[in-house]
Amino acid sequence: MIKLFFKIIASFLLLLGLLVAYIFIDFDDNRPQKIEQPTTVNDITQLNPIEVTRVIQPTSIEDIVGAIQSSTGAISIGGGRFSQGGQIAYPDSIHLDMRAFNKVLTLDAAHKKVTVQSGITWRDLQEVIDTENLSIKIMQTYANFTVGGSLSVNVHGRYIGEGPIIRSVESIKLIKANGEIVSASPTKNSTLFYGAIGGYGGIAVIAEVTLNLADNVKVKRYTEKMNVHSYKEYFSANIRHDQNVVFHNADIYPPNFTDIRSVSWLNTYETLTVEQRLISKDKEYTWQPKVAKFVADSNFGKWMRQHVLEPILYSFDAVQWRNYEASYDVNELEPSNRTTQTYALREYFVPVENFDSFAIKMANIFKQHQANIINVSIRHALPDSGSLLAWAKTEVFAFVVYYRQGTSEAAQQSVKVWSREIIDAVIEENGAYYLPYQLHATTEQFVKAYPKADEFFELKRKVDPDYRFRNKLWQQHYETNNKQLDGSDDE
Ligand SMILES: Cc1cc2nc3c(=O)[nH]c(=O)nc-3n(C[C@H](O)[C@H](O)[C@H](O)COP(=O)(O)OP(=O)(O)OC[C@H]3O[C@@H](n4cnc5c(N)ncnc54)[C@H](O)[C@@H]3O)c2cc1C
Repeated sequence: MIKLFFKIIASFLLLLGLLVAYIFIDFDDNRPQKIEQPTTVNDITQLNPIEVTRVIQPTSIEDIVGAIQSSTGAISIGGGRFSQGGQIAYPDSIHLDMRAFNKVLTLDAAHKKVTVQSGITWRDLQEVIDTENLSIKIMQTYANFTVGGSLSVNVHGRYIGEGPIIRSVESIKLIKANGEIVSASPTKNSTLFYGAIGGYGGIAVIAEVTLNLADNVKVKRYTEKMNVHSYKEYFSANIRHDQNVVFHNADIYPPNFTDIRSVSWLNTYETLTVEQRLISKDKEYTWQPKVAKFVADSNFGKWMRQHVLEPILYSFDAVQWRNYEASYDVNELEPSNRTTQTYALREYFVPVENFDSFAIKMANIFKQHQANIINVSIRHALPDSGSLLAWAKTEVFAFVVYYRQGTSEAAQQSVKVWSREIIDAVIEENGAYYLPYQLHATTEQFVKAYPKADEFFELKRKVDPDYRFRNKLWQQHYETNNKQLDGSDDE
């Protein structure tokens, strides 16, 4: 009996040793020294290099107006460059790289409002508002994105009682295709407001943004594991109406997609386990990308994540500042290279009542195509307040899919197949797919998922009659809608 006990312990230690070796030994640290031409604009996946004629980095509104008025032809706009399907560029366009247009203009701490230039990142804004113990009301999980890119995509985060970012925007200052500067809000130039937010750089340049802020509070983590089909009821009974919940998401575990772990962060007065107010910008991430690779590499890695790594991680209490939890850095995900394989995201939004039926369809498609899914994170969003390209037409659950794929033509084609099947499935459930990712949807699917697309195109024709604001997304769906434009084919 004692022998058997020691054998079990020895096997466990051996397994743990192998795991640690796997994670910490760098088998492929042959990072290519990539020298990117300044006129090649690419995104984080490195799958979409696009040659533009000139890159301009404005630092003032005058620079943007000047760039528009002193040129003719296509203009593309880029923020943090984290969208993943060419949404930031167009061949031979003048590219506005907004990242140096990044000042905080006014901070009204008493009324919890801030006005910024749109190229500022969330992380840089957090640095300023944290001094007043204020927080961004709605943003993504990571803090590297720009405010302008986030508004143009109409992003969301893990916040309970919130939804698309448009719900936290008080007003914006836009620069139109003729160089005119206009302010817009839900009550002033509202059509422009609802077109530009979620408009993927197709309506105007978003120059300045006034956002409502929230209080920075201490939050404590709670987690629970359950069957996927218990989640909807669990959410409705425990999370949906609890005003103490600040952040919430739930992770469905691949490859079986039957178990889910809910992770919530609630207001607390308990003592901090992490004293730091924000995650340091120059933190180095050595083991995190290796864990992601380990999980992606095999079903054993996925099993270890679910049954060993996360139970250990979540066995520790975590009490920290809301701003700390909102300051994650995407570098924690960045692999050593993206030459033959890359990591990408997809996202699908379904009305809350259709959670179970979509979860089944999605899992079946992934299994049938043997897609290498690393995680499916569930988020909740209240309905959009009126943007023309709203993805939350009603109250929805978001299914955020993080996966790994090959970079070869064949691998990209096979992703396109499952991707279109899932879009059909989400449309069947009266939902929508998210637009910042790879452009696999057909225009027919786009129009079904975004029923106000025609209104959006009509607005674009009116405010951008010479079709100056372009990118690959609008090349795909707008040019086919406007046969008179000098566009290319849909597919
Ligand atoms: C690791 C990772 C995690 C993510 N997590 C989330 C998440 O939690 N929630 C979520 O909703 N999304 C998420 N996304 C998607 C991401 O939020 C969007 O791609 C977002 O747009 C990124 O902001 P950006 O500054 O990189 O914008 P970019 O990718 O640079 O631009 C996005 C679009 O906005 C336009 N644009 C940029 N700046 C302006 C401007 N000033 N005026 C007009 N148009 C402009 C561009 O032309 C483009 O069409 C994630 C993406 C990644 C890679």
